[in-house]
This record gives sequence, structure tokens and C-alpha cells, in this order.
Amino acid sequence: MNFSSKWEPVIGLEIHVQLNTQSKLFSTSPAQVNSDPNVHANIVDLAIPGTLPVLNRKALHKAIMFGVAISARISKTCRFERKSYFYPDLPKGYQITQLSDPIVGKGSIDVLTEGKSAKTVGITRAHLEEDAGKSVHDRIANTTAIDLNRAGTPLLEVVTEPHLNSPSEAASCFRQLHTLVTWLGICDGNLNEGSMRCDANVSVRQRGDKALGNRTEIKNVNSFRFVERALHYEIERHIALLEQGESVERETRLYDVERDETRRMRGKEYSDDYRYFPDPDLLPVAVSEDLVESIRRSMPELPHVRRERYVSQLELDHGIAALLTRDRETSEYFERANRVTGNARLVANWILGNVGSILNRDELTIEEFPLSPEALGKILSHVDDDELSDAMAKQVFDQVLAHGNSVNEALDRVRQTQISGSGELRKIVQTVLDNHPNQVKQLSEGKSKVLGFLIGQAIKMSQGKADPKQLSEIFRELTSS
Ligand code: ADP
Ligand code: MG
Repeated sequence: MNFSSKWEPVIGLEIHVQLNTQSKLFSTSPAQVNSDPNVHANIVDLAIPGTLPVLNRKALHKAIMFGVAISARISKTCRFERKSYFYPDLPKGYQITQLSDPIVGKGSIDVLTEGKSAKTVGITRAHLEEDAGKSVHDRIANTTAIDLNRAGTPLLEVVTEPHLNSPSEAASCFRQLHTLVTWLGICDGNLNEGSMRCDANVSVRQRGDKALGNRTEIKNVNSFRFVERALHYEIERHIALLEQGESVERETRLYDVERDETRRMRGKEYSDDYRYFPDPDLLPVAVSEDLVESIRRSMPELPHVRRERYVSQLELDHGIAALLTRDRETSEYFERANRVTGNARLVANWILGNVGSILNRDELTIEEFPLSPEALGKILSHVDDDELSDAMAKQVFDQVLAHGNSVNEALDRVRQTQISGSGELRKIVQTVLDNHPNQVKQLSEGKSKVLGFLIGQAIKMSQGKADPKQLSEIFRELTSS
């Protein structure tokens, strides 16, 4: 997006990722925020004197997994600070977080940008912290209620460098991080329930300037589209102020979805305001090389590695490889179907086309799709062998889905309608040859590529019922004479 040739937007994101552990970050309470209010807040979550927090090992492992995935430096020790502030949903008066030594240090991710190749975006850090409770405004009339189920649930806060230069790049970065954490299985990725929340920091500077402008922070946006829209609004606001010779005030703002605008929430606080100090209740935990190595070995092939492999080994287009690796389930489905067929392009086209449209229509995830990847692979291997036209494969596919037939049954049925008697096929082929004298001439000059085109015309004419293999034999026979 081009806001103006004069001004350049600069954006950095802070994304809170809710880690999907069974229990909370420092206590044995179940990390279930959707139960009845206040049933999962125990004495440790409330920091009742005499209790001590204990670090949840699984949460630490998940954080390390993320760090390994972005090729970051992993801290040798895991230590925590207290960040003090008062708020009704934080009755203990402080949040346990990491300031000086985040578990995940500098790393990077490749963000796919519109029409362009990937852009490497620096990750400044990712640290572990506990979440606060929730203020509930709609449960009791004229009263704010407090639900502490969320208090103490584990978050990984991922902070990017200010490397993003448009709202769509920022949205794409958010999406990419969503793909990564769900792929790794460390977060359920449910944006509606707040499993990932994005704070977007944005400033504007004159193109060519090195120094960053004054920024504002838009809090708690929970959809890719809203991040894009909120930033769009905010950037135009900055530009308007600067063009009038005014300055942008550093502040925290909220995005109002209904009105599609941002509004001031509060002036920005600085870290001095929080009286950070090392949490005396938690000893530093050593993070050994062995631990990091064993976590690395347990990890699945990463989405960007897989994406590149699809391009380099399977010769898929970049865009298609990106769509197939947008979530792990789709990619696994593709892998399994392709293992049966071995024609990656064909399988990819079917998954993104015929399968995708049914998933859309019936609002299914690919895991809920009734046809197994092996069954799809089997159908498509007949197409790959030229035994079945694409249109007939679609009939087989539809029959299996509609009637729950086995692939073999559906194949038999559809084959019964296939035109394979050479008499009828010859007629079709002859008509196609008569209708396309130019292509026939090219064929006779050795341009064998046009054969595919002619076969396609014949299949079309037969309404998909002709056997492509036989067609091609008849074509050869009739044109070689
Ligand atoms: P804070 O301590 O106030 O949270 P940080 O320095 O940790 O600030 O930065 C928070 C986020 O803001 C990071 O994602 C960073 O990339 C981004 N950021 C910092 N300065 C700017 C700026 N001038 N314009 C846009 N984004 C910025
Ligand atoms: Mg911050």
C-alpha cells in the first residue's frame, strides 16, 4: 500500500500467544478460562502469603520450541521479574514476567508479502509471563465483576523489530506467527477467544529518514483483518498530524471495530512506572544445551522449510506452496495424498480447488473432511495414469462424498458411463481434427504440445466421458497417416 510517496509507515508488533498447557504457568490450577467464573484460581494464583510459585516445565519447553523455530538464541537460564501495577483483575498487585533475560532472544521469521518474495522480519525477543484475570462488564448490572480463571495462565509475548512497512505486511506477519505457533502445537490459535492478541506499534517518517518517528500503540487486536484496518486508520491520522506541522503524541489507543477508527485510551507508561525487580520466590532455572537439542529433535518440519521444499523439490508455484503450508493439517493431507499419487501439482490443485470448495461450503476443517487423503490420492493416481479424465475423477469424488461409496465402487460405476468404444471416440476425434486445422498442421510439424490441447477439446466434447488414454491413441493413429 502506498500512503504517499513522502511518508513511510514503520510498524512493530507485540503478540501475546496463549500457550496451551494443562495447568497454569506457576500453579497446578487447570488453565481453563471458559469454566464457571473463579473456579480455577487457587492460592498460588492469588499470591496468598506462604505460597510459592513453581515454573511449569511444559510452558518452558513450548517457549523454547518457538525459539528454535525462529532460529533464536535461547537463554541459558530462565528467570523472572515482577512487574508491579494495580488493576482489579490483578489482585496480587504484580505480574510475573521476564524483563532482563527473556527465554527467547533475537531471531527472525520470513514474512510473505503481497506479490513479492519473503521479507525477513527480526524478532526482538519472546518472553514468558502470566496472564491477568478478566473484568466482566456484562454479567451483573451496573457492576464490574472479576473472573480470575485466566489469572496465571501462560503467555509467550513475541516482540518484533520495527521492520514492517505497511498494514498488509503487519497482518501477514501476524498470520505467519499464527501459522507457526499452531503448527508447532503450542497454541490453539483461536483468535476469537483471545488465544493470540496483537498490539501494533506504529509511527511514520519521511522516506529516506533513518530516525524513527513518534509512535502510538494500538492494543489488543484479535484478527488479521482488523490489524490491517486499524493500522490503516492510524497511519493516515499520523500523516495528517505531521502534514499540519503537529506532532504525534506517544499514547496507547484502542481500535473500535464498529466505527473503524482508533481512540486514545491512555498516555503511554514507561518501564520505570512498573518497579520491576527479580521475583524472589523463583530461582533461575538452568536451560541445558541437551534440553534445547532434544526439543529441536522432537519438532516437526517447519512451515517455511516445507514451503521451500514444495517449490524446489515438487516444483510447485510459490503461491500454491504457501497456501498448502498455511496450516499443518492441510499440509499433512497433501503429504499423504501425494504419497499415493506422486503428481504433486495435480494433488495440490485438487486440494485447493475441489476439496477447498467443499470445505468452504460445509464449513469443515480439512481434518473433518470425509474423504481420506489416501482415497483422494487413489482417485488421482488414475488421472495421473491417464485412465480417467479430470471430469470423471470429479464424478468419482462426488459419488464417494455423496453416497459414502468406496473409491473402487465409485470407479466401477463411473467407468460404466465412460465412452471407450473406439467407434464413438473416433467420431469425436475426427470432429476435433476437422475443427482445428491450424493445430493439426502444427502437430504435423512436430509440435507435440498441441496434442494435449486437442485431447482436451475431445474430452470437453464428450462431456468428460472419454477415456483420455484411448483418445490419445486414436489421435496418434489418425494424425500419423
Ligand atoms: P515498550 O517497552 O514501550 O513496549 P519496545 O521498545 O519494547 O517498547 O517496543 C515495543 C514494540 O514497538 C516493538 O515491536 C518495536 O518494534 C516497536 N517500536 C518501537 N519503536 C517504534 C517506532 N518508533 N515506530 C514503530 N514501532 C516501534
Ligand atoms: Mg512492550
